[in-house]
Amino acid sequence: MNFIGTYILEISYIIASVLFIFGLKMLSHPLTARRGNLLAAFGMTFAIVATILWHRHNNERIHNVGYILTAIMAGLVVGWLIAVKVKMTAMPQLVSFFNGMGGACAALISLMEFPHLGGESHLAIMFHGEVLAIILAMVIGSVSFAGSMIAFGKLDGWIKDWKSPVIRVINICFLLIIIALATYIMSRGEVDPRGEMIWMYILIGIALVYGVFFVMPIGGADMPVVISLLNSFTGVAAAMGGFLYNNQAMLTGGILVGSAGTILTILMCKAMNRSLGNVILGAFGGSVAGSAMEVAGNIKEITLSDASVLLNYSQKVVIIPGYGLAAAQAQHICSELDEMLTERGVDVKYAIHPVAGRMPGHMNVLLAEADVPYEKLMEMDDINPSMPNVDVAVIIGANDVVNPAALDDPASPIYGMPIVNAHEAKNIIVMKRGMGKGYAAIENNLFYNDKTRMLFGNAKDTLQKLVGEIKNL
Ligand code: NDP
Repeated sequence: MNFIGTYILEISYIIASVLFIFGLKMLSHPLTARRGNLLAAFGMTFAIVATILWHRHNNERIHNVGYILTAIMAGLVVGWLIAVKVKMTAMPQLVSFFNGMGGACAALISLMEFPHLGGESHLAIMFHGEVLAIILAMVIGSVSFAGSMIAFGKLDGWIKDWKSPVIRVINICFLLIIIALATYIMSRGEVDPRGEMIWMYILIGIALVYGVFFVMPIGGADMPVVISLLNSFTGVAAAMGGFLYNNQAMLTGGILVGSAGTILTILMCKAMNRSLGNVILGAFGGSVAGSAMEVAGNIKEITLSDASVLLNYSQKVVIIPGYGLAAAQAQHICSELDEMLTERGVDVKYAIHPVAGRMPGHMNVLLAEADVPYEKLMEMDDINPSMPNVDVAVIIGANDVVNPAALDDPASPIYGMPIVNAHEAKNIIVMKRGMGKGYAAIENNLFYNDKTRMLFGNAKDTLQKLVGEIKNL
């Protein structure tokens, strides 16, 4: 029975792993993403149920099943309620928070398992492979937890950046101390791991502080990179847990999250034109002072009727959505404007900047929710060459991702970040509430450009009125 049970358990983990992989694959397209998410969740449920039914340790079943199920139910209810209530604009904070919880789990598992290394005998031998997996999971999980909590606070606006050249030095010191402590613990060999717990507590404390210092200086437009990096950290920490328990489902899940997060980090770095080395040293975010070029020119407004005529008689219109579109929840009315113009023969496309909004893929998710055809969404690099032929660039609640300072102001904190070249279009209409700054908190010369006309107001209200005007033409 034991043999058959082990066999069934191994097969169940393989099935769960395959479901994770197919689920992840389906997440790459908005049309299949929802089903992909459900499939991966089903895989995880399957792995948990199989573990409860068939896992054996020293020929004994898993104990405390009641506690385990109660904890799962509590987590399910809390997670469900939070997910149902969260506003779309607060999604990045939520992702950061949940990611931090994953890191905390990995760190706590390591802390719990360390005293049991080598079995129950008092003078147990600490096997190097196991110790390494435990230390890595604990350190990486703790950094991910503390860093994600700081990122959560920053995205929510109640933690400010703390930039100082000293932080780079402090961070390097923390890293060296962590490596030294880990090496010391691993070098202890044939001792009782329970006697070494004090070093583990010190290590977890330092890793937590490092996580805070790691994210504190990162700010301005650079948060997307750190969020996806922390995500990959949590994956790696979970994969270490998979090694420790020899659990294929945990290992596959961790590796998938870790590698997907790493690939996303690299893509984000490319999109932001930053190096990963700077991210890891916590010295990210351009110059500390971040002085920016003076803005010059006048702000010019456009009336709703003039904007509607301009759009109605254009051939090529490119909509550039940003965080303000999400904040105003204007995606549906934006899609209505697109449909109306398309019916009248206007070629309407969307220019999607990789870090527009507040989370990777934010604009894609938002526009998919409003049933905008996926083919209309053009990536920044694909649409930029055709921007000089565009009759009107309609910027809806975007700011940093169209700021030309990124191209021509070396003193700007966003210098070097590729942007959607809205300034090259023949006409530019900007929809925003006032002269508020973007996430990077810097001025934007584009608003003072001769070709730019401002349509002030909440994006949803403005779009509703604009659609009304165009209907009457
Ligand atoms: P920005 O944050 O640069 O600008 C958004 C603009 O929207 C503001 O200037 C604001 O101006 C306007 N706005 C806000 N609410 C409304 C509303 N209700 N109606 C109309 N306009 C509104 O957004 P972008 O998308 O251009 O850039 C994203 C920034 O966020 C980048 O700096 C990016 O690095 C950063 N970031 C991105 C993450 C990601 O993963 N995508 C994660 C974390 C940060 P006003 O107040 O005048 O209305």
